[in-house]
Amino acid sequence: MQQVSAGLQDVLGLTQWRKEHPKATWAEIEAAVDEQINQLRAQLLQDVVQMGETEDWSQKSEAERPKCATCGKPLWARGKQTRYLQTTGGEAVKLMRTYGACPACGVGFFPPL
Ligand SMILES: [Zn+2]
Repeated sequence: MQQVSAGLQDVLGLTQWRKEHPKATWAEIEAAVDEQINQLRAQLLQDVVQMGETEDWSQKSEAERPKCATCGKPLWARGKQTRYLQTTGGEAVKLMRTYGACPACGVGFFPPL
C-alpha cells in the first residue's frame, strides 16, 4: 500500500497540491486526499462493475429474466439507459443498464446488479 500511495500522490495531483499548500492543516490535507480518493473510488467501482458485465438479460428466456418486485412477473426489457449510483464517498457512478418494466403492473426499475 505504501508503494501504491507513493505512485498515487503524483497521479492524483496531491504531490503538486502539497507544494502549493505547504501550510495546509490536517483537515485541509484530509479533505484534499478524500476528494481525490472518492473520485478514484467511483471510477474503480465503475470499471470493476462493468468488467463483470454479464450478458444482457433482455435476451434471456422469461424464466431467467429479473422478476417484478411487486407481482413476480418476468420483466420486459425497455432498452439500455444510464443509471447513476451514489457511492458512499459521495461521487456518482455512471452505468449503462437494461431498464425493466413489468407487463402486469407497469412499474419500471433497474433490476439489482
Ligand atoms: Zn408487476
